[in-house]
Order: sequence, then C-alpha cells, then structure tokens
Amino acid sequence: MKVIDMHCDTIAEIHAARAAGEEISLRKNRLHIDLEKMRRGDYLVQNFALFVNLAEHEKPFEYAMDLLDTFYVEVGRNADLIGTARTFEDIENNRKNGRMSALLTIEEGGVCQGNPAYLRDFYRLGVRMMTLTWNHPNELGWPNRLNLEGSATIGEADAEHGLTETGIEFVREMERLGMIVDVSHLSDGGFWDVVRHTRKPFVASHSNCRALVPGCPRDLTDDMLRALAERGGVAGINYCIDFLRSPDEWPDGERPRSRICDMVRHMKHMKQVGGIGCIGLGSDFDGIGGELEMKTAADLPLLEAQMRREGFTEAEIEAVFYKNVLRVYREVLG
Ligand SMILES: [Zn+2]
Repeated sequence: MKVIDMHCDTIAEIHAARAAGEEISLRKNRLHIDLEKMRRGDYLVQNFALFVNLAEHEKPFEYAMDLLDTFYVEVGRNADLIGTARTFEDIENNRKNGRMSALLTIEEGGVCQGNPAYLRDFYRLGVRMMTLTWNHPNELGWPNRLNLEGSATIGEADAEHGLTETGIEFVREMERLGMIVDVSHLSDGGFWDVVRHTRKPFVASHSNCRALVPGCPRDLTDDMLRALAERGGVAGINYCIDFLRSPDEWPDGERPRSRICDMVRHMKHMKQVGGIGCIGLGSDFDGIGGELEMKTAADLPLLEAQMRREGFTEAEIEAVFYKNVLRVYREVLG
C-alpha cells in the first residue's frame, strides 16, 4: 500500500547529528526514517519539515536556510530513489520513474519573522506546507501549548488567542501562492481564524482526536474535525504516545507505549465525526520518543494489516494511506 506521511522531523535530526560530528545520511541511518526503510514501507511521498524551535535558535530564518540546504543535499545525493515534489504532477512523474517524492514543509511559521517576502521566498525554494506556529507564540499567532515542564499530555487549549493581523495576511498569501496551511500546534482560537479567513482545504499534518485524549490540546476537537472535513482537509494520525492515549488510561505497572490499535481507534473516531475523507498519516517520526510498536517507516504494513482486521475496506485503507492527502495536493498545490 502506497504511503503519504505529512510530517517528520528527520531533516532536523540529521542536521543536528551532523553538527555533533556524526556521519549520517538520509539513505540509510539509525533514525525512524531513511530512504531504504521508506522503500520497504512502499512510500509514495514523505513530507520533510524544516523544524525550528524558537527557544533554541536566535536567528530562525538563517537556521531554516541551513536545514533547507541539508534537505536539498540529501535528496540530491539520492536521486535514484527520491525526487523533490512541488506539484501534484511532480509526484506522478517521480512515481512513473520509480522514485519516491520528498515534499518540503516548515514547522514554525516564525522562520518568516513576520515578513511576507520571506514566505514567498520559501515558496520559491519549494516549501509547500507550513505550520503557523510550533509551541511558542510568534508573529503569526498563538500555539496550543503542551505543558512542557510536567506531563507532556495535559496542557492548555487556548481559545482566547488566535491569529494576529500578520497571521491573517499570511494565510491569505499562502492560499494565493498554493502553499498548504497546517494548523497542527496552533491554538484553538487560531484554528477558527484559519477557518474564517481561508477558503481552500487545509491540514492538521500531525494531530489526533481530543475526544479520545481529553486534555491533550495538540489533538483536534470533534467540532474542529468536522470543520476540517467540510473544507476537504485532512488530519494526519500522529504516532506519539501522548496524542494517542491519556496517561491515566494505562493500567498500573504498564508502561505507556505507542500502539497501532490506538492509531486505528483514532481513525475510527475521525471517520465517525468527519468521514473517511479527512483521515491521513502524520507520523511525527524522528520528532517523537518512547516505545513505538510501529518502529520505523518500514513497519507501515503493520498498520495496514490492523486496519484490515478492524473492518476498514481496501478503498478506505487507500484513502487514509495516501489518496486523501493526494486529493489536497492536487487541489492546493496544482
Ligand atoms: Zn510537531
């Protein structure tokens, strides 16, 4: 089964490892994602995020440009296996040539420093999707913060703060350019501002259902899922333990771990609330820790098998694995 994964942090991991002196490549490595594992998992497209933590980087634009270089160097060295994709047609052409596609995204709209010229520059450089925030407020809006000091799960859903004026200008410009708006990490207020100020499908690249993990503000409420689905957008199932199951739901003595059955549980809920068309995959591979049942990109067939066991039809599995996201790419990227 072909796979499109809307979010991973592999490029930032490779960049950091290399800065620490490690010899590491995208082709084959110790991480969740490398090209050989993707090949075994039958990937069609992997979105590679330029992830920037504003608390660690004083010059977010410059750092994003460094990550961008790492992305292009790695993809360029492996042109036999993968090619960049800026349009739906690029994905089709890569597929015809037996290659997987790499779609460039940004996780932290603050890299643009509020300057729409930088947004356009990133578009010209191939970026086709961007989260407006990560876990820090920026020029564009406010995040839904996880409580980063204590429990990673229980945090604050911020309904009060949304997008700034600049944020509203940005989402309009993103739509005009053909860059997909990604609401993962954004505050509840910001989510509804995106709904109000955009017209095209948008995504939550790596967010699950809040109804199943009460108190996890990184997941979407049922109202959000419905609004996303009505717009033709997609939410990517995140494999992170904290977004799949509340810590207090684990029996005493059992170690919380990311389980495939919980991913399917979230899919069933999304299907019930927004329909099969709003479900995609957003692994968060190489951005998440802990024990994972689906350990790497090579393990995606395990998820496919579990979905089949739990009654999803072939057409539904195809929709979730790649066709729903492909629909958004065709519509927004052109
Ligand atoms: Zn994230």
